[in-house]
Amino acid sequence: MSARVLVVDDILPNVKLLEAKLTSEYYDVLTATNGKEALEKVAAQSPDLVLLDVMMPGMDGFEVCTKIKQNPALAHIPVVMVTALTDAEDKVRGLESGADDFLSKPINDTALMARVRSLVRLKMALDEWRVRENTANQLGVVEKQSNVMMESADNARVLVVEDKNFEQRKIEETLQRDQDIVTITENGAKTMELVAAQEFDVLIVSLNLAGEDGLRLCSHLKSNERTRSIPIVMIGGEEDMPRIAHGLEIGAHDYILRPVDRNELLARVRTQVRRKRFQERLRSTYEISLSMALTDSLTGLYNRRYLEVHLEKLLSKNQESKKSLAVLLIDIDHFKHVNDKYGHAVGDEVLKIFSQRLLGNLRSFDLVARLGGEEFAVILPDVSEQRAWMVGERLRTSISDVPFVVTGHPEGISITTSIGAALIDHNQHTKHEVLERADKCLYEAKKGGRNAVVFEGKGKLNPDDFKEAQRQFIS
Ligand code: GH3
Ligand code: MG
Ligand code: MG
Repeated sequence: MSARVLVVDDILPNVKLLEAKLTSEYYDVLTATNGKEALEKVAAQSPDLVLLDVMMPGMDGFEVCTKIKQNPALAHIPVVMVTALTDAEDKVRGLESGADDFLSKPINDTALMARVRSLVRLKMALDEWRVRENTANQLGVVEKQSNVMMESADNARVLVVEDKNFEQRKIEETLQRDQDIVTITENGAKTMELVAAQEFDVLIVSLNLAGEDGLRLCSHLKSNERTRSIPIVMIGGEEDMPRIAHGLEIGAHDYILRPVDRNELLARVRTQVRRKRFQERLRSTYEISLSMALTDSLTGLYNRRYLEVHLEKLLSKNQESKKSLAVLLIDIDHFKHVNDKYGHAVGDEVLKIFSQRLLGNLRSFDLVARLGGEEFAVILPDVSEQRAWMVGERLRTSISDVPFVVTGHPEGISITTSIGAALIDHNQHTKHEVLERADKCLYEAKKGGRNAVVFEGKGKLNPDDFKEAQRQFIS
């Protein structure tokens, strides 16, 4: 899929010129000739990048950019401001209104294309995480949509690779206005050592180092697993433009031309820091929401939703590998009495200890889930019938043979459990069918007096048949 770029300019020939350039590089181009139309198109079409003219009658580019960046649904769309002004103050104003970059007219084609490509790539990476955040929203575990502009840009850990003393001091002084923690190094070897040992939020790399090629260093940083996602801001002169374009191509995020304008440096570093923190937030929200959606908070075991999805996968894997799996449904006996007699809090403690005992008696690739209340499921992939029987008995005795030590009862309370189980062969089965088969056996185990394992086709297991096997397992 090709990326979509919205070109906004009040002067039609400008629009046509950019449209032609972008179309020839296979971008899909949308156009708008004023601020209002631009905002409507951004909202309706969600482009991958906006090229925005600053000087427009009515709503100017700064205002349009601010409006885009204040809208949580749109703030992630990169905006490049385009202007005839070369005033540093305007540049900084643009960046502070949330623009991701600033290009001056007449637009240098190399700079434009390198910039467009790198921003589109970044946007697409962010989109991945936004989709997942959306899923998390739908699962109901994260209510709030995040917004890149809400991220703090202070206290960033910045590594500066620059060998000129004067420049080092200038950068350090500037970044300290944001309370950034600045580390300075003069060469690539030292840089690789530092990034291996410490965490950084932004790397600033000079392309004019005396003894080596800063671009090569950027390339190293981008191919290193540990440093790949840290934003790089290159510093170079006007004559370095082709190398800067190459740097953006290989994944550097931004650049500043010498002589470095302090406010511009600050604004660009802030943008990178915010974006990195935003991406980290999306990732961790996603991970937390996934674990919240798929696990049970009391016991830490997987929940029913996860079990059902996973069981389906295991069943189809079974068909391919021609192996069997066992499904065990496990229900604590008279758990209501435990709650009635000792209280709900003790009941919870029992559920936790119970879960730990199940886990402790299974292989790492067996699956344990809490289906709800005091009902659990265990799946044993790739297992023989005899082994499944033995595991069922072992789980039962691991509960019944050792009293549960809970708050207020150091002597321990006695708990038993009933288990219904079925061995599932490699033919086609649905998850509902197999769970139902195990459930029928569980019902038999309860009806027959509890504290028992009932296996489909075998009936109630005789504990005496397994004593020897258990002993062998333990020893
Ligand atoms: P049976 O042997 O037939 O399974 O009897 P039972 O009492 O275990 O089964 P029943 O389904 O009648 O009761 C289950 C009880 O589990 C009722 C409910 O209050 C309790 N329970 C469910 N979830 C929790 C929980 O998270 N914590 C606590 N403490 N109790 C729970
Ligand atoms: Mg029960
Ligand atoms: Mg029950």
